[in-house]
Amino acid sequence: MTSSSPAPHERPIQPGATLGVLGGGQLGAMFAAAAKRMGYRVESLSDSADCPCARHCDRVHVVDYANRDRLVEIARTLDVLTFEFENIPVAAARAMQEAVPVRPAPEVLHTTQDRAREKAFLTERGFACAPHRIVCSRTDLDAAVDAVGVPCVLKTAAFGYDGKGQRKIASATDIGPAWDALGPQACVLEGWVDFDCEISVVAARGLDGATAVFEPSRNAHANHILDVASVPAGLPAAVTDVARETAARILEELGVVGVACVEFFVSRSGAVLVNEIAPRPHNSGHLTIDACETSQFEQQVRAICGLPLGSTRQLAPAAMANLLGDCWRAGEPDWAAALAVPGVSLHLYGKHAPRPGRKMGHLTAVADSVEAATANVVAARRAAEHG
Ligand code: AMP
Repeated sequence: MTSSSPAPHERPIQPGATLGVLGGGQLGAMFAAAAKRMGYRVESLSDSADCPCARHCDRVHVVDYANRDRLVEIARTLDVLTFEFENIPVAAARAMQEAVPVRPAPEVLHTTQDRAREKAFLTERGFACAPHRIVCSRTDLDAAVDAVGVPCVLKTAAFGYDGKGQRKIASATDIGPAWDALGPQACVLEGWVDFDCEISVVAARGLDGATAVFEPSRNAHANHILDVASVPAGLPAAVTDVARETAARILEELGVVGVACVEFFVSRSGAVLVNEIAPRPHNSGHLTIDACETSQFEQQVRAICGLPLGSTRQLAPAAMANLLGDCWRAGEPDWAAALAVPGVSLHLYGKHAPRPGRKMGHLTAVADSVEAATANVVAARRAAEHG
């Protein structure tokens, strides 16, 4: 009998190894915190030394993502590389891939960082999403509005997040101003979905192709930015099943090794439509840190290191409320007041300038019911603001 040992690239990357993360924001910082706890070294590549990652990483490389030689030089010192931010130039990830495994692969970044390519992927593979057209000119836009109907929403194909680069078109008179604001560049025109709710599913896929899917989160937005996420989402089982299965299939078809999040609209008729895909842990998954057997960040470490994925079981109903810079309007919030609310934990990202709309941290509450968790996390945030 011959014993077959795994090829070197399939062997787990053991604690003690050095994990790289492209980007220096809070998602990288929470990834680094999970990896450090497990005994890894973590190095971030960021455009700023004073980034949230700096508080949790062994080293921050301040880099210009256009400096190919420097990126490859750093890549040679790493055991695996991931990213925490999808607006990283794909060329940078591809250059580094010559020297280190990049997980998820740069191709995943390429598909998901552009709404037009992402929509083409979803449509080709038969995933349900809002009716849409790709538009590159004012003439295209007029034809697209005719085809899709109003209301609809024009979104830039590239560099859009948290509602940035979007204009709603409610009637024909909005077409010109929308194009003047966003064109001339490739955009996607999407039919407006009269949704019942927005949900998201965070999922992981390992090197061996196994997937682990978290429970859907019900997401409430304010000014296009996630405000409160709660799990369980209180949806019919059929909706939950479709959302979880769709997320797992998207990770498989994209070939993700790592963590990704799929955001959905649930229509009033119960249709589950993909809104967008983030090829990394997601703001709506932050409550997994306090509420699940394995957090989305530990899952990211496990997936990119070729380790078995952890259980996504939720230990208690939970809700998360974002702390935007707006919470600092009346000065430093009263954290003691927030933490006096039962089941609440505080996560601050160490950012210095609390600008309106900037994600500075979040609160999570666990409770016996999702209603209580949601009420408590919102009450805790209000108590902090009124401090
Ligand atoms: P996005 O950056 O594409 O996720 O859009 C930000 C938010 O705008 C979403 O979470 C929705 O609340 C809203 N939105 C975007 N696209 C649509 C749509 N086609 N129909 C209805 N609401 C939308």
